[in-house]
Amino acid sequence: MDCIFCKIAAGEISADILHRDADLVAFRDLRPQAPVHLLIIPTKHIETVLDLQPGDDAVMGRMLRLADDLARSQGLEEKGFRLVINCKAHGGQEVYHLHLHLLGGRPMHWPPG
Ligand code: AMP
Repeated sequence: MDCIFCKIAAGEISADILHRDADLVAFRDLRPQAPVHLLIIPTKHIETVLDLQPGDDAVMGRMLRLADDLARSQGLEEKGFRLVINCKAHGGQEVYHLHLHLLGGRPMHWPPG
């Protein structure tokens, strides 16, 4: 399957990986939009949120738990952060392998203040 995130999960393409286990991989976004910009993906190829099955509930829960752990380890717990999942064209999804963006290290709202 020609999926860049499957290749990162399989170790075929290099990435700055912060976490890897049987079900999940977390790595730094290549084009960060914030001082901390991580992507958390399931190792299983799921194209979009619309393709989730009941059997994926546990891994989706684990994605949120991992986001919590990574946010803390990146020092984001005091000021907070943003979690985003884009879905299809209007959601701005570029890579069709489900991923959770973890963004922090600057105010994410606009206008600031
Ligand atoms: P989305 O627009 O939600 O599909 O987000 C895809 C994200 O993947 C973008 O923020 C890209 O910068 C990021 N990205 C694409 N290719 C890579 C890669 N090889 N390694 C790390 N991040 C990537």
